[in-house]
Amino acid sequence: MPNIEIIQADITTIKADAIVNAANSSLLGGGGVDGAIHRVGGVEILDECKMIREKQGGCRTGHAVATGAGKLPAQYVIHTVGPIWQGGNNEEEKLLAECYVSSLELAEKLKCTSIAFPNISTGVYHFPKKEAAKIALTAVKKQLHHLTCIQQIIFVCYDQENYLIYQDIMTYFSDL
Ligand code: ADP
Repeated sequence: MPNIEIIQADITTIKADAIVNAANSSLLGGGGVDGAIHRVGGVEILDECKMIREKQGGCRTGHAVATGAGKLPAQYVIHTVGPIWQGGNNEEEKLLAECYVSSLELAEKLKCTSIAFPNISTGVYHFPKKEAAKIALTAVKKQLHHLTCIQQIIFVCYDQENYLIYQDIMTYFSDL
């Protein structure tokens, strides 16, 4: 079974085969983790995103696309588009879970053995952090038995609030 780890760090420093970006549907970069990934990874990542845009016109919410990782220590960046929180009645939960599932599926296709996730949608997209963490961990745990290449899954929390929430929920899960 793959190992799940929770750490507090900047995802651009993580040496996983794939790091996941909380992108927007334009794939043209933004603030938060997206801004950091493009800033540190360099223009190659944006150039690849532009090629994907030309081919398929961006990325839909809940879907994922992959590029190289430029100057980052990872091999690939998996760009997934989280839902914008609109109160909870616009399929936000389902779409957020889909982000984690489609990123794992893509990482498997790319034969990645490790993948690092940020806390998708909990920044400018305003998804409530506790709900988002429960959805993320539940979605990933449900996929574990489908994974053949991935051995390590890292949840990279940037802010301490998310880190404490994830630790709490993991403890609860392991008590079940
Ligand atoms: P979204 O638009 O999906 O909400 P954000 O980038 O605004 O995306 O925020 C998503 C999460 O990423 C937030 O919890 C934020 O604290 C976190 N974050 C911001 N910068 C980084 C970084 N360098 N590494 C990891 N996580 C980050």
